[in-house]
Amino acid sequence: MTDPALYPCFLGPYGENDGLLERLVVEFLRDHVYWRRNVHPEDPPAIPTQAVLRPDYQRFEAQLRRELHALSAALKRSVPFHSPRYLGHMVSDLALPGLVAQIMALPYNPNNVSEDAAPVTIDLEIRVGLQLARMLGYVDDPARSDCAFGHLTSGGTVANYQALRLALALKAFPVALRAARFPGVELPEDDWCAFNLHPHAALDLLQRARDRLATLATDECAEWRRRVEHERIEHLGHVEFFRRHPTLSPPVVLAPLTAHYSWSKGMKLLGLGREQLLQVPERGMRMDPRALAGMLDELHRQRRPVLTAVAVLGTTEFGTIDPVHEVLALRDEHAARGLGFGVHVDAAWGGYLASLLRKPDGGLRPLEEMRREFETFPSASTHAAVAALSRCDSLTVDPHKLGFLPYGAGAFVCRDQRAMGLLSEDADYVFAGGATDDYFRRYHQLGRYIPEGSKSGAAAAAVYVTHRVLPLDAGHFGRIVAQTIRSTEAFCAHARRFIAALAGTVQACVPFAPDSNLVCLALNPAGNRDVAVANAFVCRLYEELRSMPGRSVQEQEFYGSMTSLRAQAVGEADMARVLGELDLDPASLHAGREGGDRLFILRHTLMNPFLVDEENGIDYIARYFDHLGQRAQAILADTTARADDLQGAAS
Ligand SMILES: *Cc1c(COP(=O)(O)O)cnc(C)c1O
Repeated sequence: MTDPALYPCFLGPYGENDGLLERLVVEFLRDHVYWRRNVHPEDPPAIPTQAVLRPDYQRFEAQLRRELHALSAALKRSVPFHSPRYLGHMVSDLALPGLVAQIMALPYNPNNVSEDAAPVTIDLEIRVGLQLARMLGYVDDPARSDCAFGHLTSGGTVANYQALRLALALKAFPVALRAARFPGVELPEDDWCAFNLHPHAALDLLQRARDRLATLATDECAEWRRRVEHERIEHLGHVEFFRRHPTLSPPVVLAPLTAHYSWSKGMKLLGLGREQLLQVPERGMRMDPRALAGMLDELHRQRRPVLTAVAVLGTTEFGTIDPVHEVLALRDEHAARGLGFGVHVDAAWGGYLASLLRKPDGGLRPLEEMRREFETFPSASTHAAVAALSRCDSLTVDPHKLGFLPYGAGAFVCRDQRAMGLLSEDADYVFAGGATDDYFRRYHQLGRYIPEGSKSGAAAAAVYVTHRVLPLDAGHFGRIVAQTIRSTEAFCAHARRFIAALAGTVQACVPFAPDSNLVCLALNPAGNRDVAVANAFVCRLYEELRSMPGRSVQEQEFYGSMTSLRAQAVGEADMARVLGELDLDPASLHAGREGGDRLFILRHTLMNPFLVDEENGIDYIARYFDHLGQRAQAILADTTARADDLQGAAS
């Protein structure tokens, strides 16, 4: 059942909190109008009061209304993300605080590119970075020079680009210091060493260079800045940089096979090329750290530098969680042996899970305590992965996914803000950023540091207010996350009953235990051994579960999504295990046929907080499985009837 603490947090499946939303929106819209009138109360209205009587005014309003009616009608065909019948993608109802704050901020139209255009919301965005930093276990005290820094992006995709940019800037900077013969600090002995420092060592070097500059006279200081700037990869471009440093080559990025395609896009955007994106094999649907270790050894032997290793906290397709702690151990071990690289965690989906593990005082909740609350969550590996987040070099987390906030809100957070100066468009800022100057003031020209330019300040307000009303710990926001975990565990229990009840008709299994709140279900008509037949069956089920432009929302009982398992991605052993559980013949899986190299499975995101309605005695998860069972049987009956028809026609 739903935690009653969540009742006021959403508009609700039935629009239950419409009164609250309406009161707040109207109250603060009026408040905005008062504000306009009070900017200079002596200025009279510029639009004449009789304007409303003009025929062209009235035609305008009529036209506007007509278009809005059309839009409103069209929007009724939207996907009902808010509904407990929606179990599809990573989206659900919106947190009410964020929705109201966003609507409230919109007419002020703040632009978070710089404080001139957003005197209020830019501060909120910087504070959001600190709120997220605290949830993730980073230093969140802006008085400390090594405080974390985070900012919003349009989504996880752009946050991942930012991670690549920052990792490259930090990796290549020591090479520039050497090339410029920067005075008075001990520099790495050769280009290879400079390009392969542990990120912590690279940051230390940056700090020492900063400290050194602070001792120089103003024009001497400017001259050294200029010299270093002219040797940086951002200044020279990759071609010239690597021409000048022939012992180095463009670095590779290591990401698990199931990583989001934004990594491939990022490699193209950064000019590194997709070929430099190396895919780390998986075991049990999670990145295999032994495979990663093997790849690192091989790269070291070939003297191919590594930019960053990406671990995923909550894969897009399966919600699985990579062993972040083991990836970090490899980072430290390989840096000590001369192959330094950063670790970025793509927690676009799973980042907010950390709120459930965080105590209000900032500490981490012990595994045993959490296990008393849930059946299997978190696994020891998930707990260790979340505990390790504080040691990662940077992170992506999407408030517009598990943060239940409107779109246009991803976030990038780096562990130590001192690196951020390297991204600045203004060379003067590269060496700025000591402990003494004010953290907030430094980032007020946010546009200098981020991939975007103009961007929504209203989105920052939405995220900030939500995190204030629901702080990112187990006592507050974590309760929403806890609800999704309980739904997942309930879903798994129903799935077990479904699998038993349909035995003999459909062979089904949950292909791997969920780490978070995504659960997949693999299905095969009983007696069938051919993967192609199983795939056709699952695709027909999915046809009924997907949102289709032509289908009305009333006609559709439930919404789900679909994904696929490929041996290449999940590993031969896991593929064989799943096929075995479904009684499918591995030999029928072949790459020749279109899509024939994979097994299609249903995918469910259990994000909706209202899946079990105790008051009305409705359990939407139970209903979903009833529906799925009925549809599976209907599809099988239909297939058999058609086969009989065909036989009848033939004889
Ligand atoms: C969703 C997702 C992304 C991309 O985020 P957008 O907000 O869609 O740009 C990246 N990585 C992972 C793991 C994701 O789940």
